[in-house]
Amino acid sequence: MVHNTLHDRGVIARWRQFLPVSDATPVISLNEGSTPLIHSPRLSAIVGRGAEVYVKYEGLNPTGSFKDRGMTMAISKAVESGAKAVICASTGNTSAAAAAYAARAGITSIVLLPAGKIALGKLAQAFMYGSKVVAIEGNFDDALRLVREIGETEPIAIVNSINPFRLEGQKTAAFEIIETLGDAPDLHMIPVGNAGNISAYWMGYREFHAAGRAKKLPVMAGFQAAGSAPIFYNKVIEKPETVATAIRIGNPASWDKATVAMRDSGGTVDIVTDAEILEAQFWLAKNEGIFVEPASAASIAGLMKCADKSRGAAFDLSRIPEGAKIVCTVTGHGLKDPDVAKDRISGIVTAHAEKGAILDIIA
Ligand SMILES: *Cc1c(COP(=O)(O)O)cnc(C)c1O
Repeated sequence: MVHNTLHDRGVIARWRQFLPVSDATPVISLNEGSTPLIHSPRLSAIVGRGAEVYVKYEGLNPTGSFKDRGMTMAISKAVESGAKAVICASTGNTSAAAAAYAARAGITSIVLLPAGKIALGKLAQAFMYGSKVVAIEGNFDDALRLVREIGETEPIAIVNSINPFRLEGQKTAAFEIIETLGDAPDLHMIPVGNAGNISAYWMGYREFHAAGRAKKLPVMAGFQAAGSAPIFYNKVIEKPETVATAIRIGNPASWDKATVAMRDSGGTVDIVTDAEILEAQFWLAKNEGIFVEPASAASIAGLMKCADKSRGAAFDLSRIPEGAKIVCTVTGHGLKDPDVAKDRISGIVTAHAEKGAILDIIA
């Protein structure tokens, strides 16, 4: 067998000493993590004042989202405890990750999805990885309630982010950012749905700070879609709606943790509209060559909102120092949700198969 470097062997191999694993833990990995932190000259220019903006491209994980970081932990620990089956509620990416890592472990995965609200790529993944897929007549919050009920009576491990091992794995993204930058950034911008990821990053930043690996802690700025923004409005949203299906959540499981992260870091939560999300998604693909799914673009839309003083953003960018480092997490790959690109694809022009016709069109 070929031996990869530690960085290529997944987050448990790379960050073992910071994770609750032991020699008894079977490591179920698809070599997730170690994703690129891409400098964005154009976002840096938009922010100005010498800021350096970086994009943490989590779409390059094995199943195309950051969920793989948490799932390698959740599935490894489930197998360690003898589980033969796992279950999750999902807006799509948790189910894709659970299905892949369960397949890798040789155990059964069951996924509960809100009927009709899953991006096509994610649905394809659940089926291809061999999950038992149940579409429920309800939203994500209903699905999560049912998962909790099933977990109470059935011998099936829950791998939603209410499983603490998920956040443990996800915190490793913060470790990687600190290692790449040499310190924590000044400001971290991140999409918020069930609010596990922002909580996990904050845990990771704090742990490395406490261990002396980072000198500072970032300000955490979370962004919700305007139609599903329970934390921003400080109330449960019964019928959350947004094109960004991965953050279409009305009652986040990690609400309290996320609130603490934003409060203790001096950060804020803000909203971005679906139009702003789609515009930021297209902008990032067209201007920086980074194609992300709509939910992921919430952090980019958020940064753009903050950079435009006329839009009344919750976070005042002038609070961060000259030359600050800013990281935007983009959570999932653009190919997950091909339907949102349909409007743009529909503009395709067909030409006669001859040079002149093509030159006419591209002129
Ligand atoms: C899960 C997910 C989110 C939201 O993360 P939370 O931890 O639920 O806040 C955002 N974007 C994508 C692509 C996701 O898969």
